[in-house]
Amino acid sequence: SRCFYFDETTSTNAFMLGHASELKSGDICVAEYQSAGRGRRGRQWLSPYGHHIYASMFWCLNNDISHASGLSLVIGCSIVKVLSDFGVEGLGLKWPNDIYLDHKKLAGILVEISHSSVQKTKLVIGFGINMSMSVEQGELIDQPWSDLSSQIIMPDKTELLIQLHKTLKADLQLFEQQGLAAFLDRWNEFDIFVNREVSLLMAPNLVNGVCRGIDEQGALLLETEQGIKHYLGGEISLRAV
Ligand code: ATP
Repeated sequence: SRCFYFDETTSTNAFMLGHASELKSGDICVAEYQSAGRGRRGRQWLSPYGHHIYASMFWCLNNDISHASGLSLVIGCSIVKVLSDFGVEGLGLKWPNDIYLDHKKLAGILVEISHSSVQKTKLVIGFGINMSMSVEQGELIDQPWSDLSSQIIMPDKTELLIQLHKTLKADLQLFEQQGLAAFLDRWNEFDIFVNREVSLLMAPNLVNGVCRGIDEQGALLLETEQGIKHYLGGEISLRAV
């Protein structure tokens, strides 16, 4: 694979989306600073300088888009595995795309579609991980956040990137062969909301229930008075009650 390295860029996802026709699965883009880092639905990923990780990997699935459902959950499982292997403790996953440390947001994942047809789906898989954020930098984030600075051993950024790249490629291959089923145990181990009361925000609606994990498509299982319901889709946000 190739690595495109930038001191500064608008967004690593935007760079990869702009060059998708020249890319191969596993190619990755890394930046030290993003002037317009992205979250879901037009939200911002704050991306200051400071050895944080901002990266995007290109991947082509030999299938239609319906097979990409649940992919952000696989990426969450991969990142949590790598960080755990580096000794990071207190990690959690929040459906569908966030990684928490001690119940505060440590990392975000943004999967964007570059092209999809019946035979092929080209994806850009972006992730940002806070390494050591100063208080001034963190003041601009409008929700509780965390970084890796509280860890006994701070992972080396280059080592972390190398392991993330390796693990993401291996896990995506496994996902193509076996689907999300291969990741359910790990998801359940780290899911911060399983068996807890939650609200699903689907503007303008709000649904309350007890979170019962995920199904093999990556849908969130919510136990309501009408029984267990499956929720899938990019417009839903999960909150603790
Ligand atoms: P959802 O539950 O819908 O995913 P979210 O608030 O987690 O909601 P995302 O699009 O996943 O939304 O992530 C963007 C949000 O993450 C921003 O609106 C901001 O609140 C927060 N954020 C932005 N930059 C950082 C950062 N560097 N570290 C931690 N959190 C951040």
